[in-house]
Amino acid sequence: MALEEYQRKRRFEETPEPPPKVEKKSGNRFVVQKHDATRLHYDFRLEMQGVLKSWAVPKGPSLDPSDKRLAMQVEDHPVSYFDFEGNIPEGNYGAGSVMVWDVGTWQPLSAKQVDGKYVPGTEAEAAAMLAKGDLKFRLNGKRLKGDFALVKMRGRRPGSKGNEWLMIKKHDDYAVDGYDIEAIDESVLSGKSMGEIAGDEGARKWKSSRPASRGKLKAAWLADAVARLDQKKKTSNAAKRKEKTTESRTGRRGIESKHPSGHRRAPEKAEEG
Ligand code: MN
Repeated sequence: MALEEYQRKRRFEETPEPPPKVEKKSGNRFVVQKHDATRLHYDFRLEMQGVLKSWAVPKGPSLDPSDKRLAMQVEDHPVSYFDFEGNIPEGNYGAGSVMVWDVGTWQPLSAKQVDGKYVPGTEAEAAAMLAKGDLKFRLNGKRLKGDFALVKMRGRRPGSKGNEWLMIKKHDDYAVDGYDIEAIDESVLSGKSMGEIAGDEGARKWKSSRPASRGKLKAAWLADAVARLDQKKKTSNAAKRKEKTTESRTGRRGIESKHPSGHRRAPEKAEEG
């Protein structure tokens, strides 16, 4: 396993993504990357076993426990992918813009609860939970916090590739009813919007007209609420911008094969075993 699949899918002379390298030691970071590929999706990655274990989440992680988010496990990524933000050029695997949407640390949660509450588990427990397809963990990110589970689905859907999991928020103090990930289009790394990362002029103007106080909000829930308000105010601008992008993309969407994880395949590479 390791990073062979990651390597096989990419041409490192063309993509700015980091080369495959398995680390000897594992930290305990996580990252959520917003990825505007064939279809917009979010990649959730946990640092584990010297790599980033990765899931493509079409609707993105949610803080609402009633959301059960489909999460397709994809190839392991190198740990250095942790802060990758930028543009994967056309014709390459996963072509499109990547934003670092959230970063932080994570802890595995022990299967054994104490007084009805989850408590931190060991690295060995995490490996066992991953293998079993029922991984419970606690996130301490800038935006995502609290207890979650990733649960593997077993032979439920016809044509299932066996890589489908559900990402579910547990009920705790960090749960937010009606959580809307799309309301927050801002990198935790650079402060850029998706449009800015893609180098879109319209988006740059849109960003500069925002209230400057936004970045100073410490509480995540408050920042999120303000972001949602910002989003409402700017809806008309965003709609105009979307019209433009959709138009320019229609052509290539029609001819390229779609991948369930939302990645465009690099056609020349896709045929390789
Ligand atoms: Mn992706």
